Amino acid sequence: MATIFSRIAAGEIPSYKCAEDENYYAFLDINPLAKGHTLVIPKHEVNYIFDIEDEEYKGLWAFAKKVAVALKAAVPCERIGVAVIGLEVPHAHIHLVPINKESDMDFRNKKQFPADEMAAVAARVLEEFSKL
Ligand code: AMP
Repeated sequence: MATIFSRIAAGEIPSYKCAEDENYYAFLDINPLAKGHTLVIPKHEVNYIFDIEDEEYKGLWAFAKKVAVALKAAVPCERIGVAVIGLEVPHAHIHLVPINKESDMDFRNKKQFPADEMAAVAARVLEEFSKL
């Protein structure tokens, strides 16, 4: 059975899309650490990120770099923090989080934002991504 993230990338489950190409997809985390917290996934379903074969793995990080550049342009912040956890959803994903201080990466501090704010930030990231 397809993972929830495969179904999101296929458009079967809604998401706040931030970026997409043929092989990779980026969308907002629904329980973000900060506004703009984005997940980057390979469309190809692999559970554990370090099981991804080399070419796809390098492509995933290159795509995540572009998303991070777009995210930083869209959301004022000091840095884009990066994390890979993967304990909850069995489909490899990279967390990109706009941060200003180390504690902004604390995964015990998940937040929620109204749908209109989520849609607006995703649209800004998508717009910035389209310029790259
Ligand atoms: P982890 O697998 O531990 O890296 O965590 C999975 C992340 O996916 C969590 O931060 C969740 O908030 C997020 N998440 C789970 N389901 C969805 C969804 N349907 N849309 C967006 N983010 C999700």
